[in-house]
Amino acid sequence: MKKNDKNIINYKNAVSWEKTGNASWAQCKECDNWFNIGPSIISKPEIKLHCPNCHKEFFQEESKKIIIA
Ligand SMILES: [Zn+2]
Repeated sequence: MKKNDKNIINYKNAVSWEKTGNASWAQCKECDNWFNIGPSIISKPEIKLHCPNCHKEFFQEESKKIIIA
């Protein structure tokens, strides 16, 4: 993993609190809101995430935390 992936937590093999295995979550760097992101977005760090709460756009590495489940 790259150095700037420190904010990304990979729970794929650790816990199973998400049943599907396709649900990942990002925490907004502005308002701390958690929102769902798809695996196709996770695999493309160059695409900005969009917070549905405050409508801030930011890259994965800028988010407070990302959980990949
Ligand atoms: Zn937000």
